[in-house]
Amino acid sequence: MNLPGSPFLAVQDGRLCLDGHDLTQLAHQHATPLYVYSRQAMLSALAPYQRALVGRAHLVCYAVKANSNLAVLQTFAQAGCGFDIVSAGELARVLAAGGDAAKVVFSGVGKSRAEMAQALQAGVRCFNVESTAELEVLSDVAAGLGLRAPVSLRVNPDVDAGTHPYISTGLKGNKFGVAHEQALASYRRAASLPGIRVVGIDCHIGSQITEVAPYLDALDRVLDLVEAIEAEGITLHHMDLGGGLGITYTDETPPAADALIAALLARIDARGHGHRELLFEPGRSLVGNAGVLLTEVMYLKRGEHKNFCIVDAAMNDLMRPALYEAYMGIVNTQGTDEPTDTWDVVGPVCESGDWLGRDRSLAVKPGDVLAVLSAGAYGMTMASNYNTRGRAAEVMVDGAQVSVVRERERVEDLFKMERLMG
Ligand SMILES: *Cc1c(COP(=O)(O)O)cnc(C)c1O
Repeated sequence: MNLPGSPFLAVQDGRLCLDGHDLTQLAHQHATPLYVYSRQAMLSALAPYQRALVGRAHLVCYAVKANSNLAVLQTFAQAGCGFDIVSAGELARVLAAGGDAAKVVFSGVGKSRAEMAQALQAGVRCFNVESTAELEVLSDVAAGLGLRAPVSLRVNPDVDAGTHPYISTGLKGNKFGVAHEQALASYRRAASLPGIRVVGIDCHIGSQITEVAPYLDALDRVLDLVEAIEAEGITLHHMDLGGGLGITYTDETPPAADALIAALLARIDARGHGHRELLFEPGRSLVGNAGVLLTEVMYLKRGEHKNFCIVDAAMNDLMRPALYEAYMGIVNTQGTDEPTDTWDVVGPVCESGDWLGRDRSLAVKPGDVLAVLSAGAYGMTMASNYNTRGRAAEVMVDGAQVSVVRERERVEDLFKMERLMG
C-alpha cells in the first residue's frame, strides 16, 4: 500500500493506523465522515522549520486557513509559533486557542476597517498590506485610534511558482501583493503616512510548491527591493518569506523544510542580510499529511464505462478534488477479500463535480471505511453545508489520547439562523 507523506500513518496487522490508532475503529466509534489528525505528526512537521532556524531571530507563523480548528492552533501556539491570519475571524480563533496577538501577521487583499481596528487593538505583530489603497485606509484607521500600524508590504515578485493557477499568487496579473515595480514608491508612501510604521517586507508566491528554485528567485527579487528601500533610509526589520511549501499527495518530491530554509539562508547570508529577522508562513506543510478524512462506503454501482464507489463524504466535506482537480490518495482502512477493481469514488452531493478520486484501484465492499489521505490541510476549513449536510466531526490523537476537537454539526444547527416570513 502506498502511503504518502507521513511516518505516522502505517498499516499494523492489516489495519490502517494514524499514530497507532486504528482508523476503522475510530470511524465506528465517532461515525463518518470524520477528520482525524495526529498532534505528533503536526509537531514533527514543524520541527524541521524550527531546527533550520536555530540561532536566528525568527518566527514561524502557522497559516491558520489551512486548518483552523482550535486544537490545531493550540498545538502550534504551545510550540511557540505565531500565526498568519486572513480575517478577524481567524484572529478570534487564535486568541481563543491561547495564541499571542504579538506573534500574529495579518495578510489578505480585502481587510475591512473593522478588521483593521480589531487587529490594531489586539496588538498584532504586523499587517501584510497588499495595495497602496489599503495602506491609506489602514493609516486612517490606526491614526483614528491614536496608533501606528506596523506594516510590511506584500510584494509580488513576478515569479512562477510552478503550481496550479488557482494557488499561484506571485505572478503579474494576480490579485495579490504590490507589483515589484511599484513597491519602492509604495514604501515611500508608507513611510510618509501618520498611522503607519514600516517594519518589514513580505512575499508569498503560491501554494503546493515542490521546488526550491521559485523560492530563491523570489528571495533575490525581494532582496533587491530591500536594498533599494533601505537606500532611501527606510529600515526593514524583518523579512517574511511566506509559506507555500508543498507536500507529497502522490509522487511529488518537495524539498524538506530544513533543506529549503538552508538554501534560503545561504543566499541571504551571501548577500549580507543575515542579521534580519525571518518570518515564514507555512500552512499545508505543517498539517496536510497529519490528517485523514474517513468515509464509509455506502453503495457500489457498476456501469458499462465506469464503476462508482459511493461514499458518505462529499465535496462539501473535502473540496480540493472538485475545486482543483486535486489528487488525494484513497485507501481502504482494513483488509478485504473483495477483488480489486477500478472505481470513481464519489459522494452523495448532487453535482457531477462531486468526486473524491477517479479511476482508483481499490478492493471495497459496502460498509468498508476508506481514508482520504493528506486531508489535514484545506479540508475542513473549506467544508460547507451544501445540500444541507452538517459538517464532519474532527478528532485529534496524541499518544494514547483521543479527543473530539469538533462535534459533528447537527441538522437543526444548519438553519437555526433562518426565519420564515412573518
Ligand atoms: C495561504 C497562505 C499561506 C500558507 O500557504 P501554504 O501553501 O498552506 O503553506 C501563507 N501566507 C499567505 C499570505 C497565504 O495566503
